[in-house]
Amino acid sequence: LELDKVVMEFEIGSFGRRKRVRAVDNVSLSIDKGLIYGLVGESGSGKSTLGRITLRLYKPVAGKVVFDGQDITGLSERRLRPLRRRMQLIPQDPYGAVNPVQTIGEALSEPLIVHYGLKQHEAIEQVKSMLESVGLTPAEDFVNRRPFNLSGGQLQRAVIARAMLLKPEYIVADEPTSNLDASIRASIIKLLLDFKKKYNQSLLFITHDIVLLSLIADRIGVMYLAQLVEEGPSGEVISNPLHPYTRALLSAIPLVSQELGFEKIFLKGEIGDPANPPTGCRLHPRCPYASEKCAKEEPPFIQVGGGRKVKCWLYERG
Ligand code: SF4
Ligand code: MG
Repeated sequence: LELDKVVMEFEIGSFGRRKRVRAVDNVSLSIDKGLIYGLVGESGSGKSTLGRITLRLYKPVAGKVVFDGQDITGLSERRLRPLRRRMQLIPQDPYGAVNPVQTIGEALSEPLIVHYGLKQHEAIEQVKSMLESVGLTPAEDFVNRRPFNLSGGQLQRAVIARAMLLKPEYIVADEPTSNLDASIRASIIKLLLDFKKKYNQSLLFITHDIVLLSLIADRIGVMYLAQLVEEGPSGEVISNPLHPYTRALLSAIPLVSQELGFEKIFLKGEIGDPANPPTGCRLHPRCPYASEKCAKEEPPFIQVGGGRKVKCWLYERG
């Protein structure tokens, strides 16, 4: 999956006072087959929008989206349909992801009927066996239940089951556990990782939890106010964060910052307004290293070797 200089804008505000907000600004990245790309950043940094662009649920206003070698940026919904089963979204809120009046059996068999032309009874057989493999047993019982009769964790398992029934090659998991109790988060993540391994899927895992990414991701990308500011192999990004924003994210986690050898830094103030981002480097009002140049000129995304990139003037000359 490849993004090349992708831009996404939305109109916000009420009538007469409408404003264009750039939710994703000039982002390029690629996710190799069978790997996990972890995308981290605060809420409002554009992570979810970026994830939806990779699935072509949004059409970017500029830039290119390539899936399995095919440019899908401008494809119509009709031309996208055969690709839809190959790329699936696991959203944050499982209750918003299912039709509340359908039974779990109906909700999970429908995509099989639509995408694979299965008959109802054939689809239900596959649904039951998938429910077993995600731990919703007895499946016989779960197929007849409706979403509000399931706990959040059970329903997220059902939503994962629905996606996996289609045997997708690429998954976007958008904070798949952030609405769930801490006690069941690990089991949901393990479930996703087991499927990923079984089907050699590529995964874009979106979270604000950089420690989780250090455990599961092959590469990490860090977003701040609609831009990708750092990217690299996950072990290196965690043990030697280059961008001041990444360093601040890790400094805020006591155990991690004690163990690692970098200087802790803390940012001033709050994340800026995406509708009215700061000039120059977007972090400059908060960054302890900011210089005059940082306030005026936007830094490029600088390649620093070892497959790492960082959008910060400090690395201009290595
Ligand atoms: Fe800080 Fe300047 Fe680097 Fe931005 S470019 S992160 S303000 S040092
Ligand atoms: Mg989000």
